[in-house]
Amino acid sequence: MFDYDSIAGFATSIKAVAELAKLAADARDEAKIKEAIRELQSAIVDAQSKAIDAQSTMFQLQSENEKLKKLLANLESREEELDRYELHNFGDGTLAYRLKDEFREEAPEHFLCPGCYDKRIKSTLRFDFMTNRKQRKYTCTNCKTKYCLGTPTAQQRVVRRSEFLTR
Ligand SMILES: [Zn+2]
Repeated sequence: MFDYDSIAGFATSIKAVAELAKLAADARDEAKIKEAIRELQSAIVDAQSKAIDAQSTMFQLQSENEKLKKLLANLESREEELDRYELHNFGDGTLAYRLKDEFREEAPEHFLCPGCYDKRIKSTLRFDFMTNRKQRKYTCTNCKTKYCLGTPTAQQRVVRRSEFLTR
């Protein structure tokens, strides 16, 4: 993904330039000086090209680093948001997440889906209706799971029409 070698390559070519510069400085006869200068020029061109590659890699790394920082900040704020909720028993083991006492004033009453919460997704339960056993029926707006919250009242006996007529 990233050309890390370009950074190492740049460092190596700078070292080569320094060595050739020293050779050129130490050379005594004109032919050796000219040859050393030619090699030095070629090494400088090579180092310039490697510097451009290394710079491009550093820009990519910088941009990736910014993206990861933003992602991390989002994850942290989501965790903080989810930490404001606690699992609540609405009666008879019917469970959903609701705001902890200290945060309850901050928003209208609402509940979160336990299944989605476990996947670190904040998903509100939508109230559907009151069942005939006086439980509140909800649907998760994300995964569509249905929940009945609250202790159910005793099942009401339905008197059939035929039964009613034979009385
Ligand atoms: Zn859900």
